[in-house]
Amino acid sequence: MSQLDGKIAVVTGAGRGIGRAIALKFAAEGADVVCVSRTEANSQKVADEVRALGRKAWAFAVDVADAEAVGAAAKQILADATRVDILVNNAGVTRDGLLMRMSEEDWDTVLNTNLKGAFNFVKAFARSFIKQKSGRIINVASVIGLIGNAGQANYAASKAGLIGFTKSVAREVASRGITANIVAPGFIDTDMTAALNDDQKAEILKAVPLGVLGKPEDVACAALYLASDAARYITGQVLTVDGGMVM
Ligand code: NAP
Repeated sequence: MSQLDGKIAVVTGAGRGIGRAIALKFAAEGADVVCVSRTEANSQKVADEVRALGRKAWAFAVDVADAEAVGAAAKQILADATRVDILVNNAGVTRDGLLMRMSEEDWDTVLNTNLKGAFNFVKAFARSFIKQKSGRIINVASVIGLIGNAGQANYAASKAGLIGFTKSVAREVASRGITANIVAPGFIDTDMTAALNDDQKAEILKAVPLGVLGKPEDVACAALYLASDAARYITGQVLTVDGGMVM
């Protein structure tokens, strides 16, 4: 028997990178998957890949920062899929820059996507989780939310905020049989890190004891664990997937 047989998962930012890997890993373990991203073509493509694994899939193009759009999408998702068991808030962006040069727009975009986006989705599905007395919430933060990073004040604030948010939610909903945990990746090989040049990568790898960048699948395996029955007694925790960078 597969680890997520019969479960239905919503994954935001499923169009590429880590979110795509989580969607495919969950599908390979027996889950049906709702793929959410900004770009219709990206969520459709990954939904097709989920279907190719023999699972049901739905594709949604939603800006996670738009509370009204998220509310409408959640209603449609619950109508189409009938139920949601697992919610993975993975959609995220960076707008890096030193504090003195960081625009208000770059601050707002990152906070609204990475932090408010998760709030919007958790709020939209909380009622149905409470009603069914079960649910798994997995929020994808970052080691940067734990240790900070020069040039990423907005991103670090969003991810540290996401950790505090998740722990608060975990306490609020624990009595209803719902868990909420955080996966905090280190440096993972995706479009988000593709802009780094070789010198920057070499510099980063000096801080990674395992000596290599992580793969999206490494993060997907951690998300799978937190979504599985094996993690039923774990809530409010941060699971770092970072090659030992933060220990
Ligand atoms: P990515 O390759 O840039 O993909 C980001 C995904 O998020 C895309 O599918 C994108 O949609 C979606 N997205 C972005 N803004 C959105 C919005 N407003 N509404 C809906 N969807 C939105 O990023 P990644 O590297 O896979 O990162 C995934 C998550 O892991 C992020 O939260 C990131 O902060 C976190 N993380 C990444 C790393 C890393 O090293 N890569 C490290 C630590 C944490 P489209 O495809 O439609 O553009």
